[in-house]
Amino acid sequence: MPHAGAANIQGGVTVDLRALSGVQVSEDRETVVIGTGVSWGEVYKVLSPLNLTVAGGRAASIGVGGFLTGGGLSALGPATGWGCDSVLEYEVVLASGGILNVSGTSHADLFLALKGGSNNFGIVTKFTMKTYPSRGVWVGGALYPDSEIPRQSEAYSGFMDPANFDPRADPVQGYGWTAEQKTLFVTNILLYTEPRLDPPVLQPFMNSSAAVSLTSQIISMADYVQEQSGSQPPGLNYIFFTTTFVHSPSIYASIVSKFNSSIPAISSVKNLNWYMAFQPSPALHGQNSLGLDPQDNG
Ligand SMILES: Cc1cc2nc3c(=O)[nH]c(=O)nc-3n(C[C@H](O)[C@H](O)[C@H](O)COP(=O)(O)OP(=O)(O)OC[C@H]3O[C@@H](n4cnc5c(N)ncnc54)[C@H](O)[C@@H]3O)c2cc1C
Repeated sequence: MPHAGAANIQGGVTVDLRALSGVQVSEDRETVVIGTGVSWGEVYKVLSPLNLTVAGGRAASIGVGGFLTGGGLSALGPATGWGCDSVLEYEVVLASGGILNVSGTSHADLFLALKGGSNNFGIVTKFTMKTYPSRGVWVGGALYPDSEIPRQSEAYSGFMDPANFDPRADPVQGYGWTAEQKTLFVTNILLYTEPRLDPPVLQPFMNSSAAVSLTSQIISMADYVQEQSGSQPPGLNYIFFTTTFVHSPSIYASIVSKFNSSIPAISSVKNLNWYMAFQPSPALHGQNSLGLDPQDNG
């Protein structure tokens, strides 16, 4: 059920889409039709045994509908764009009750609008997505104390330098403070879309002598998203705010410094976990309604 005040309207109608399920891979394995009511965990469970994947969510519990209509930051993003960039066709129910199949060649204006337009244009019942080969991914995790903050924000800056860009790498670097621990820490959730142990481009995030904990393994996307759901349990209330900026070498340290200075203002709030994270956000195709142009990659 949606949380009060989030993803629904007070006094409005809530439509439960969970029965619109199904994950159907095409005979040539190039595409997959996904019912809007499934979660990404269910999608990867079908695709991983076939050595396939899609530009979907990074946690098993995330719903397909909200992720893909909202845009969708995927582990494949640096190579393939937003999740919605890999949608080839939508089946959508309009406010009139009409059902349309919408693609680049049929209702092309609606096709563009649905790529980031959330629930403003109708209810999508099925998504046809492009599949990508996947024989497993490398995933790494690292947790550091606050003394490592400068080194880690520098590592992120180095990674985002266009000279070092590797579209197979997807590092999400988080800075956290919890009411329970009352101390700052840095986490790296690292993914490489090929089954290559300890990929060099992500090594600056893996400093074993300074880390509080470190993990490194090759697993399937299906197992990866299950692990991620475990570390982000349901039952908590999440509020996300996002912004987008162009890479410049010193911007990460400035943002981290702003985050640090925000802590006194929230430190007395009970049971609050306060996080800020960097993630690479692709503006590769410019064929969506998210307002980012490929030129914005800087
Ligand atoms: C633990 C966690 C991890 C996350 N990780 C990521 C991540 O890695 N990348 C990322 O991009 N996002 C991530 N998110 C955010 C997530 O993508 C959004 O919360 C998304 O809206 C979830 O989709 P849903 O279908 O589950 O949500 P819902 O709450 O059901 O829907 C969200 C919005 O989308 C609309 N909507 C849903 N389905 C449809 C449909 N079929 N047709 C039209 N409108 C629809 C709803 O009306 C609502 O406005 C994460 C969220 C959580 C809680």
